[in-house]
Amino acid sequence: MSDLPHCPQCASEYTYEDGAMFVCPECGHEWSKDGSGEENEEKVIKDSNGNVLETGDTVSVIKDLKVKGSSLVVKVGTKVKNIRLVDGDHDIDCKIDGIGAMKLKSQFVKKV
Ligand SMILES: [Zn+2]
Repeated sequence: MSDLPHCPQCASEYTYEDGAMFVCPECGHEWSKDGSGEENEEKVIKDSNGNVLETGDTVSVIKDLKVKGSSLVVKVGTKVKNIRLVDGDHDIDCKIDGIGAMKLKSQFVKKV
């Protein structure tokens, strides 16, 4: 019985240990045992409470936000479903009922 993980790249089960690394003989992929390898370096986006946000989460807005280029305001407490995390200054892509597609900053929302 082996408890070695399958290769994250090609799903091969023939991985072996090499020091602090796992190695896949089939595709040559190497990754560290503690999961801190570069392959796992993903940008973490957090809400105003420090909770990690994920694509598909529902959040609520914690302050009134003016919608750029319009007179609309996203009111505090507005629920935003199915967010999508993106790169950039505004790191949440979403669609808000009555307003449409827009981008939010993660610091102005909280996970619900
Ligand atoms: Zn592999």
